[in-house]
Amino acid sequence: MNFDNTYAKLPINFFAEVSAQEFSNPSLLAFNKDLAEELGLDLKDMSPEELALVFSGQTLLEGSQPLSMVYAAHQFGNFVPQLGDGRAMLLGEVVNPQGKRFDVQLKGSGPTPFSRNGDGLSALGPVIREYIVSEAMYHLGVPATRSLAAVNTGDYVYRREGELPGGVFTRVAASHIRIGTFQYFANKGNLEALIALLDYSIARHYPEINEQIKESNEALNPALMFLKSVAKAQVSLVAKWMSLGFIHGVMNTDNTTVSGETIDFGPCAFMDNYYSNKVFSSIDSNGRYSYTNQTSIVGWNLCRLADCLIPLMSKDRDDAVKLLNSELSQIGALFKQEWLQIMSAKFGLVAKSEDEKLINSFLDYMEEEQLDFTLSFRNLTEVLDGKESEHFHETESFKKIKENWFSRLKEEDLTNKQVIEKMNKSNPLYIPRNHQVERAIEKANDGDLSVFHEMNKVLKQPFTYQEELDQYSVPPEPEQEVKATFCGT
Ligand code: AMP
Ligand code: MG
Repeated sequence: MNFDNTYAKLPINFFAEVSAQEFSNPSLLAFNKDLAEELGLDLKDMSPEELALVFSGQTLLEGSQPLSMVYAAHQFGNFVPQLGDGRAMLLGEVVNPQGKRFDVQLKGSGPTPFSRNGDGLSALGPVIREYIVSEAMYHLGVPATRSLAAVNTGDYVYRREGELPGGVFTRVAASHIRIGTFQYFANKGNLEALIALLDYSIARHYPEINEQIKESNEALNPALMFLKSVAKAQVSLVAKWMSLGFIHGVMNTDNTTVSGETIDFGPCAFMDNYYSNKVFSSIDSNGRYSYTNQTSIVGWNLCRLADCLIPLMSKDRDDAVKLLNSELSQIGALFKQEWLQIMSAKFGLVAKSEDEKLINSFLDYMEEEQLDFTLSFRNLTEVLDGKESEHFHETESFKKIKENWFSRLKEEDLTNKQVIEKMNKSNPLYIPRNHQVERAIEKANDGDLSVFHEMNKVLKQPFTYQEELDQYSVPPEPEQEVKATFCGT
């Protein structure tokens, strides 16, 4: 790997230098060759044994400067002044042939100065889950961190379920800067560090801001422009989640990146039957991060970023607050616009404001009839030619939905074939269904990786029918349904 580390050059109070714990017998479970190629990594000559040592932190490649980052967070609404990578270490950054910079990070490689009472380790289960779900997100077209490798450490970890095989996950991200990273320094009142973090984040993720400032005759405000950029990225991300029935589960500010990538696939899940207030996380007893609440929590989290930016805005605090508030007040409308566009495409439409009614009436219908979110959208094309589909009950509300939809389609001037093509690009057939993820984990714990590999394969082309793997499109039987998922921490 051609490391080119920049975070390590930031002041020392941004991170801690760390090293991995020793493991008994690391073995490679998966290595994402396609991603390695995209990153321009030259690891072709390495054996699986060598790769297992590298991706469990036992062997350090030249140029690697392992570090754990510090950050704070609002967790379920409560401020925690210091968290940090308690079980993660950054190996370093690589720049791909297209000039894009990525973090390569190990998760589950042992304790760090930020582990608090944790062991710094990960069970194999969460490694398998994150590997499958983050790759699936990427192939579904959702910005997400990616999976480069999964290793079985050969040692056990101890969790409430008892003794479990341990694993290390290798995550690739645009960066690991979170809203919580800003909160850490803002809470300490460390203006110098905040300025350095803002400069670094702009240069790394939104370099166009610096260009605009250079070219403009007016005095533009970088902190305000940064908030606008992060807001745009986060709003677009959450709209995509909503369009796929995805529930992140723990939208704390430490799990909210400034890059706008989905990060941390703990108690997350794609819904089977549609239920607007669905919650998966076993620790989310108040439903703070339910499916529907995600649309407002994204704004709440951006308000926390804005809090941190106040001292970077202007000497006059009232002035700063006014400017930031005016930006924040646009988030609702921005979200609506993104959501409308992405949801309308699921009906083969180019968004018009009136489509909100059609979308909501279809969501209500799915909820009333307890229909599967993914298959209902995918099967909508079956009723296009006026025929009845086995998937839908012809209730009065469904008839109205069709009437409304067909009259909107008439305005679009597309053939049925074109509409179907368009819809099939917006409505996936395969999502990482939770009962299958659980099955992949159970089997992997027994040393059988068949389901894990099959899921990775089918989810590489989520919009394309794949006969031999079509079982992965099927929703769970009631007894297979997974009601809650755990952090695995
Ligand atoms: P997460 O729920 O994965 O976003 O983690 C929240 C915080 O807990 C982060 O600071 C993690 O680094 C930390 N954490 C989670 N699991 C462990 C563990 N097993 N050991 C140490 N720290 C952990
Ligand atoms: Mg996290």
